[in-house]
Parts: sequence; structure tokens; C-alpha cells
Amino acid sequence: MSLIVQKFGGSSVANAERVFNVAGIVTDTYKKGNDVVVVVSAQGDTTDDFIEKANEINTEPSKREMDVLLSAGEQISMSLLAMAIEKLGYPVVSLTGWQAGFHTSSAYGGARIKRVIPDRIRKELDKKNIVIVAGFQGINRYQDITTLGRGGSDTSAVAIASVMHADLCQIYTDVEGVYTADPRKVEGARKLSEISYDEMLELATLGAQVLNNRSVEMAKKYNIELEVLSSLTKKPGTIVKEAAKMEKMLISGVAKDTNVARISIVGVPDRPGLAFKIFSKLAAKDVNVDIILQSIGRDGTKDISFTVTKDKAKEAVETLNEYVEVVGAARVVHEDNVAKVSIVGAGMESHPGIAADMFEALYDAQINIQMISTSEIKISVLINACDADAAVSAIHDKFFSTDNV
Ligand code: ADP
Ligand code: ASP
Ligand code: MG
Repeated sequence: MSLIVQKFGGSSVANAERVFNVAGIVTDTYKKGNDVVVVVSAQGDTTDDFIEKANEINTEPSKREMDVLLSAGEQISMSLLAMAIEKLGYPVVSLTGWQAGFHTSSAYGGARIKRVIPDRIRKELDKKNIVIVAGFQGINRYQDITTLGRGGSDTSAVAIASVMHADLCQIYTDVEGVYTADPRKVEGARKLSEISYDEMLELATLGAQVLNNRSVEMAKKYNIELEVLSSLTKKPGTIVKEAAKMEKMLISGVAKDTNVARISIVGVPDRPGLAFKIFSKLAAKDVNVDIILQSIGRDGTKDISFTVTKDKAKEAVETLNEYVEVVGAARVVHEDNVAKVSIVGAGMESHPGIAADMFEALYDAQINIQMISTSEIKISVLINACDADAAVSAIHDKFFSTDNV
């Protein structure tokens, strides 16, 4: 007998038919003699719809009340799935995040899981119940409901799998696994049979929504193998694990992130200490900076540009505007119509020319690069948002239309 954790995303439980489909998968697993813990997300677009509803009432609601609202989405799906399983004649119980023992930090809207105390889950499994847990939520030290940030149900599933030492953690979604690019957007995207934690972490962080990056980080930390697969087809998915394949893949995927803004502080005096001061101010405001580019000093001044997520752009601009005169810079410029396109691959470290190939693909598509950033296993470029889809396709074609895989 094994302990199996199965997570089902929003589209997998979007309507009654899909809920029964999931009930079938869960009960098939249970019938084979396994203990089954299921983590569910909110149905379809419920979370987005709740955000819209909140905005109709108050455009700046408190984060606490927002979490009370958003957590309701997972509570709807957990109870509906439990009802479907009851109807199929199997013993089942649904638990909210706090009932399931999820203790989090107090940061409403983006709480971190501090610990999971799975006593209640264990008790229910001992009673031979299938246990359904609401993903994406927990409780903080004020006994308030918190949510884990968008896409957080993946992390809930990995957390349960790690504290309960599950034998298998399956992430069921609406595509058949992790692909070399978003299969809904890029024709010819290929399903990967396996991918390493490090590459998956980069892809997820750089915009491949299929797994939440914090879930991958946690899976790596506790060495939990994940299987990403479709709830609608019975095909094998993608295994996310420590050392995928003997030979490192040259490139494992292309990702796009449109949640980016570029901010430039123009005409900064070309002398020591100013970058330090500018970025310290931003850090003090909790603004996380991604790609940074500084021009060569000319006529005694230089420009410093960087990217942030769109929700932090206003704060970054306000912070720098207060500071422009102090540092003697000319002005702050803010651009929202940008996107970051990246390639990820553990093999690029030992293969020169990958960057040149990526840039050639962009040149052939006549797409201009604004900024570039690299690490051992990724290369990212900042481009105009309107070019992003064409850029992903051009780069994907360059690396995957040949025998590179
Ligand atoms: P769920 O509701 O199951 O959590 P998500 O919508 O969060 O599902 O993630 C699945 C979606 O991720 C897919 O429908 C697909 O469009 C998108 N996606 C983006 N990049 C990739 C990729 N590289 N491989 C697979 N899916 C991807
Ligand atoms: N329902 C939440 C969201 O839409 C959590 C999740 O889907 O993982 O972000
Ligand atoms: Mg998701």
C-alpha cells in the first residue's frame, strides 16, 4: 500500500462532468489499496471572478479580507469533489487548509508555509477515508485565513507529500506534462519525459505557469519527485526530479513572462556609490529587481535601467522620483509594454553559441532586444510585449525544429 498525493488544478474541476472525471481518477487509485490525499484548486476562473467581485465593492480591499474571499474558491471545489466521491460510494472527507494543519506566515495574499501538522489527515486516512484538502490556503498566527499566492495549490500538494513522505506526488492539469514551450501557444511544442528540478524551477520562475515555482523549490529541497500529467487523457506525463537524463538537455524550454515593467533612471552622475544608493532605496521598499543594465558613462552621466514585476512598478517609480534630485539624475522613465522571453537548459553551460543562436532567431524575426541577462542555465531578453509570442515561436523553432532534443 502506498500514500499518493494527487493535485487537481482549476480546469480539471471546472464543472460537474470534470468533477466526476476527477472522482473517477481518485477512486481508481483508492481501489488499488492506496491511501489517497487530494489537493484541489478553485473551479475554472473562480479566483479571477472573485477578484473582480471584490473590485466592484472596493478597489483597495484589505489583504486579510481578500484572503477570506479567495480561500472560498478552494472550499467550493473540495466539497463538490467530496460529494461526487460520496455518490460513487467511497468514504471521503474534505478539509480546509487549517483543518489539514497548514500553518503559514502572516503575509496575506502571499503567505509561506511554515509547517504542516498532518494529524487530522492521518486520522482520516486511518479511518480509510479519501482525504480532500483545499489547496492555496492556511492559517497564520492570528488564526486568520491566508492564501499562498497565485498558483499556490501546487505548493500545498508538495508540502503534504513531503511531510507525509508520500510515495508519489501527481500534479494533474489541463496539458499532458511540461513542454518545451506553452503547448497552447507554440505549435510544435514537445512534451518532455523528464526535467530536472533546477531547469523546472527556472522555467516556472520565468513564466511557464504549468507549475508554481515555489512548489518546485520545495520539491527540490525535500527531494519529492513530481509527475505532471493531464486529468483528461491517460497518458504518462513529465517527471520532475533531481538528475534528469544522463546527458544534460541542451535546451529544455522557452518561457515568456509579461508581468514585467522596465524602469530607467536617466542621466545619473558617473561616480561611485550611486547604484548602491538607488538599489538600497528600492530594497528598503521591498521592491525586487530583476534584470539590471547600466550604460557606459558618457559626458559624465550614465543611465541605469532595471526590471520589476508590474505590480511593483508604481512604487519603484515613486521611490526613485523622490530621489532623482538627491542623486542629481535627470528623470525616471517607466515602460510597461515589455516582456521577458527566456531559454532554459542545463546543457548551455558547456555549449558556446547558444546565446548567438537565440539572438539570431530574434534577428531573423526582426525583433529588437532591449536588455539581456544570463545565468549558467538560462538566457533572458527583454523585448516589446507585442513581439513576445513571435519571439517565443522563433526561438523555439531555432532550437527544436532540428535534432537538438
Ligand atoms: P492548473 O489550473 O492545473 O494549475 P495552470 O493553468 O496553472 O493549470 O497551468 C497549466 C497551463 O500552463 C497550461 O494550460 C499551459 O497553457 C501553461 N503552460 C505554460 N508553459 C507551459 C509549458 N512549458 N508546459 C506546459 N504547460 C505550460
Ligand atoms: N485558485 C488559486 C489561483 O487561481 C490557486 C491555484 O490555482 O493554485 O491562483
Ligand atoms: Mg496552476
